[in-house]
Amino acid sequence: MPETEPGKTESTAISEQTPTIIPRDQHAISRSNISPNALKVLYRLHAAGYQACLVGGGVRDLLLGREPKDFDVATDAHPEEVRKLFRNCRLIGRRFRLAHVIFGREIIEVATFRAQHSDGAEEGEGVMSEEGRILRDNVYGTIEEDAWRRDFTVNALYYDISDFSVRDFVGGMQDIEAGLLRMIGEPEARYREDPVRMLRAVRFAAKLGFRIEAATEAPITELGPLLFDIAPARLFEEVLKLFLAGEALNTFELLRHYDLFGKLFPMTEAVLAEEVEGFPHMLISHALRNTDERIDQGKPVTPAFLFAALLWEPMRRLMPPADTPGMSEVQAIQIASARIIAEQARHTSVPKRFSLPMREIWALQPRFEQRAGRRPQRLLAHPRFRAAYDFLLLRGQAGEVEPELCQWWTDFQEQNPQQQEKMLLPETRKKRRRRRRKPRSKSPTPDAT
Ligand code: ATP
Ligand code: MG
Repeated sequence: MPETEPGKTESTAISEQTPTIIPRDQHAISRSNISPNALKVLYRLHAAGYQACLVGGGVRDLLLGREPKDFDVATDAHPEEVRKLFRNCRLIGRRFRLAHVIFGREIIEVATFRAQHSDGAEEGEGVMSEEGRILRDNVYGTIEEDAWRRDFTVNALYYDISDFSVRDFVGGMQDIEAGLLRMIGEPEARYREDPVRMLRAVRFAAKLGFRIEAATEAPITELGPLLFDIAPARLFEEVLKLFLAGEALNTFELLRHYDLFGKLFPMTEAVLAEEVEGFPHMLISHALRNTDERIDQGKPVTPAFLFAALLWEPMRRLMPPADTPGMSEVQAIQIASARIIAEQARHTSVPKRFSLPMREIWALQPRFEQRAGRRPQRLLAHPRFRAAYDFLLLRGQAGEVEPELCQWWTDFQEQNPQQQEKMLLPETRKKRRRRRRKPRSKSPTPDAT
């Protein structure tokens, strides 16, 4: 039984609750808040004689008066049957077969009710590894069975299109009201089945401002290392959800609290663990706060910038020493970038479309030091200037570069060409090259260290 604070409702055992049906006049979900495309899918499934419910985050967020990110549908129709009903339908997934009904840019995910399977010996399509991890999850079941295999009670509520009621098999309604994130079933076993649920617990706690119920919270720190076995591509997707949902800073602090951050970014964690309030911590906090602000203002955010901030300090530590003969600072950054990406890819993948801009953001940093001649204008014209400049400001906020340098670049951009000319610093030739460059190397920058 979970440990609970006296007087709290946490100890209510899920299994003692009977399924509850909350009729349409006793809950806050209104069809006007549901995407018309999701409604279309629900109605058509229902008209064809199938059960059709909205489920998961959509129901949870509607009940909380929040705007759902997307709408997922659950049904007793099998994927092939769903496909027959919708021309704009594609079946996807092997580990978890799903139907996607596509309406332009909106995709409504339709999943068939599934049952929990306890071992791989059953007939059907469920497979578990020896460590109890789910490898395949295609055993179809009833709506109630479907509820029990979901992760948290608040994610297992069904909005039934046949009578507009909410169906609650696991006590999710009560937990929504209490602001509690509670694992369905035995938390340790459920984390072992799928360790990513630990990250999900943190993500939802931060996003919804919910408390993680005691028994749900208890095993997390100990089981954290199970995340090392999860495919880097899946963890990458999870990292995006963790940090691009508008609560990045809170999420980061919570991840560190549960000792999970280091399972995603071990090199960053090593740096952070050394110094509690140093530059790296400041830089990451500012980056995450900026990200949250941009999302709040509806501005775009890029994973490249996020990864650039998270991996900047670990990358710097891999740079060859500043006095390495024949090597500019830019080259040193390039070498270290390649290393850090290879190393990080063992934990979370970093797709090229993000790692390339990330490397550019980094490699442009030393060029901000050069404020004479034609170089500032050239830097300004660089396609990645804006992101690199934002990154410079971030370093400024963290106290890593002089505020004066940041201000100079802020001003410089706003001037007309004549005024820009006046801002340039005098060309200095005092620095003697320490070495001869190889004739072919076209490195644009002398070492700025
Ligand atoms: P979001 O607002 O981030 O989309 P969500 O709750 O909808 O939150 P999804 O990842 O979209 O999360 O998953 C939809 C639903 O599928 C969840 O609400 C949950 O019921 C179930 N689910 C998703 N991932 C898992 C998992 N790893 N283990 C068990 N159930 C899961
Ligand atoms: Mg969702």
